[in-house]
Amino acid sequence: MYDWKAPERHSTISHVWLSEMMDENEAKGRKAQAFDTPFRYSDAGSCGRKLAYSNLGYEGEPFDAPATLVTWVGTTIHEKVQAAAAERWGGAWEEEGKSEIPGITSGHYDGILTHPDGTRTLYELKTMGGTAFKKSVGFSNKGLGTPVGPRRSAVIQAALNALANECDDIIIGHISLEAISKQAATRMEIDEMSRIIAEWRIPREVWEPLAYQELGRLTEVLDDLHVDVLPERQAVDDDGNLVVLNPESSRWWQCSYCSFKNQCLRDGAGRVSIKESVNAE
Ligand code: SF4
Repeated sequence: MYDWKAPERHSTISHVWLSEMMDENEAKGRKAQAFDTPFRYSDAGSCGRKLAYSNLGYEGEPFDAPATLVTWVGTTIHEKVQAAAAERWGGAWEEEGKSEIPGITSGHYDGILTHPDGTRTLYELKTMGGTAFKKSVGFSNKGLGTPVGPRRSAVIQAALNALANECDDIIIGHISLEAISKQAATRMEIDEMSRIIAEWRIPREVWEPLAYQELGRLTEVLDDLHVDVLPERQAVDDDGNLVVLNPESSRWWQCSYCSFKNQCLRDGAGRVSIKESVNAE
């Protein structure tokens, strides 16, 4: 008998829009940079080797279907949040402007809110799956434990933005695409918004040193590039530590999602001469 409960091997209808969006994205190419700088704020915490490949214009793998979907959902939510903030705060809300730290990095911010006393809050929003969201707020089925807080890469990205835009503090928002269940929320007295949304306020004494640390790291990557060397496969992990990645190990999520993984595997570990890099002309 025909097993109608088994999913079709390939979708006939449901994927068409996504395939079309992937084709459109490929035709459009990489999103234009805010300013002509070697790096982008959104590279915050990323592997130095990956930053170098991108800076050298090496061809990476295109976005796959899940990444395209997740990015589209995130962009749509960003637009809604920004429109609602503009409506609520009017001229006090600056929406998605751009800035640069000359010669190093540049990018766009999600919003800046100027308060009546003249102080400025840099706003950064991240959308994410349920697992990352729950970890960030300290939720587990056993109860509310120690939160790990906002993503380290988001904090560094916001810190660079705050530095460039002379802000005083940062608010990072997390919006989850999967809610904490109603049953668990009732048991742990979590209100309905907190099942899917969390925010953190980060003062200058926390974000400013992180911004300067990242600028130091990016400068080291640039120093390697200036002497024709691909830098070490080093990134900032979720606890803020510098770690050496290995694309041959399944331990590093950064490598699993890296569009330069094949290139990196061919080039090998450590600092590598660009002339010896497999892609070099
Ligand atoms: S595969 Fe891993 S180590 Fe290599 S460039 Fe990408 S993130 Fe860096």
